[in-house]
Amino acid sequence: MKAYEKNIRKVEPYVPGEQPQRKVVKLNTNENPYPPAPGVKEALLSMDVDKMRLYPDPTAGNLVHTLAEYYGVEDSQVFVGVGSDDVLAMCFLTFFNSEKPILFPDITYSFYKVWAELYRIPYECPVLDEDFRIVKEDYYKENGGIIFPNPNAPTSIYEELDFVEDILKHNQDVIVIVDEAYIDFAGKSALELIDKYENLIVVQTFSKARSMAGMRIGYAISNPTLIKYLNDAKYSFNSYTMNQTSLVCGVEAVKDKAYFEEQVQKLIDTREWTKAELTALGFTFPDSKSNFIFAKHPNFVAKDLFEALKKADIYVRFFGGARTRDYLRISIGTREEMETLVSFLKEYIQNH
Ligand code: PMP
Repeated sequence: MKAYEKNIRKVEPYVPGEQPQRKVVKLNTNENPYPPAPGVKEALLSMDVDKMRLYPDPTAGNLVHTLAEYYGVEDSQVFVGVGSDDVLAMCFLTFFNSEKPILFPDITYSFYKVWAELYRIPYECPVLDEDFRIVKEDYYKENGGIIFPNPNAPTSIYEELDFVEDILKHNQDVIVIVDEAYIDFAGKSALELIDKYENLIVVQTFSKARSMAGMRIGYAISNPTLIKYLNDAKYSFNSYTMNQTSLVCGVEAVKDKAYFEEQVQKLIDTREWTKAELTALGFTFPDSKSNFIFAKHPNFVAKDLFEALKKADIYVRFFGGARTRDYLRISIGTREEMETLVSFLKEYIQNH
């Protein structure tokens, strides 16, 4: 090793799902199969290209205001970033600075561990129970902060608000972040609790229910004090995180509530149909409240299924890992895409 190498920050990065550049049945990264709201296209087509000369609004004021109105909070309670990954990374940097370990589940969004390592934040990962549920009592011990997704990923399990509140009640001296990337497919949001718990931060995204993963928009909602700390960290890093196009398109997506609700319902209907079909084929899975299903089959090796599906141009996600290697994470696509998946699996099962 060269002498200078010992001062290099070495990280093991997060590995995102594949993005094949040809057309496949793509059920591997929890994208939404439907297009964004029609207003997004109109806004995009009428954008003034000359404005690209200028830096975007560093406060993202219009988008922040639109989100604040939508959720019935003050503008000062909203922070936006380049996807919720950016928002979460900024939260780790800003709020997790204790010598005590932060806590997050052993099976969860794998980026948490990467950020903890990157920023050298000590962490502990309480083990999910045998049904992949978070054990709330594990979060009663002393810690430097807490983060968990609700619904959790890749398990797809949603916990009711009283569960989230119980964790908050036991942790009022640290920051608690609830990552609600999939909340629109699930149930009540912890946003209801932000007035009651000033240490709570709720993070959401445009990537899933709003069909805009490619635009990279995420946001945090909390009280003005914590949002100011987040903004201070952001302005110490990069003032112009959000590009002009995302800012304009994001506003249009939030405005069209009817379209949003319709697409979410369509996706939920397809999810429920897929659950029934997978069950009929012998798969088992936790009851999904997200836009993906975490399924295993008693008679087949998940990795073999994953490979066979891929050969047939049907992409799902396989993680490996001691407790997850029997499972496939299958994103919910259009009804037609799910029919393609189900008929492939039917045939595979018959012939093996
Ligand atoms: N949180 C969870 C639990 C996720 O699964 C994802 C998607 N990979 C994200 C956050 C990040 O999503 P995005 O950066 O697209 O908002």
